[in-house]
Amino acid sequence: MTHLQIAIDGPSGSGKSTLAKSVSRILGILYLDTGAMYRACGLKAILSGIAPKDEVKVSEMLKTLDIDIRFADGDQRVFLDGRDVSSEIRKPEVSVAASDISSLPEVRTKMVAMQRQIAESRSVVLDGRDIGSHVLPDAPYKFFLTADPEERAKRRLEELALRGIHTQSYEEVLADIRYRDHQDSTRSFAPLVKMPDAVVIDTTKNTQEQTLQELLQCLPRELFSSAGENREK
Ligand code: C5P
Repeated sequence: MTHLQIAIDGPSGSGKSTLAKSVSRILGILYLDTGAMYRACGLKAILSGIAPKDEVKVSEMLKTLDIDIRFADGDQRVFLDGRDVSSEIRKPEVSVAASDISSLPEVRTKMVAMQRQIAESRSVVLDGRDIGSHVLPDAPYKFFLTADPEERAKRRLEELALRGIHTQSYEEVLADIRYRDHQDSTRSFAPLVKMPDAVVIDTTKNTQEQTLQELLQCLPRELFSSAGENREK
């Protein structure tokens, strides 16, 4: 059986991870959140006292960087130097560091190699910024999610509150989102772009269920009947 690849790209807060999680559950395939890997790199820089844009110091840091992605019951855990940092990487300062560090080609090359290795041997749904354009350019199903920045900031604020993080105001979250949007789409190496063969879904006014249905409509029926076969043994 050939492996199924689904790529979901879009800016932060557009609803990628919620959508990708649902798709992975319905089809019984693995979900890889690639943003978490850049977040772990950003966290490592913060903990090491390194500016995430300092190419020389980050290059040195990469030599001993130990990121491990583990999956249990469809849940992804991220380990940095042997420590589970899955919650820590969601902090606002790590979001910004992740965006900064992810603009360095050496960081991206290393993360993309890990992502391709994880995706190589099984059916997957990946979400990120460069999945359809760079990581899995041959993925037969590509989606590009968008939403107004104000709506995305609202969602991010709610998500942070659910995690017990109340350190930022709506205006600060919106400013972070605009900063990351600009940086992620203008970097020279593998920027956030919509591929011509990607289906665009504007989630601004959608419920999560509506977005899910829009995506599922684009997949052939037989994928659902073979969901059991896709499931990890
Ligand atoms: O998706 P998430 O907000 O967790 O990603 C954090 C940061 O990691 C993004 O702002 C982006 O700069 C970077 N990223 C990336 N390429 C990906 C996934 C995330 O550059 N495939």
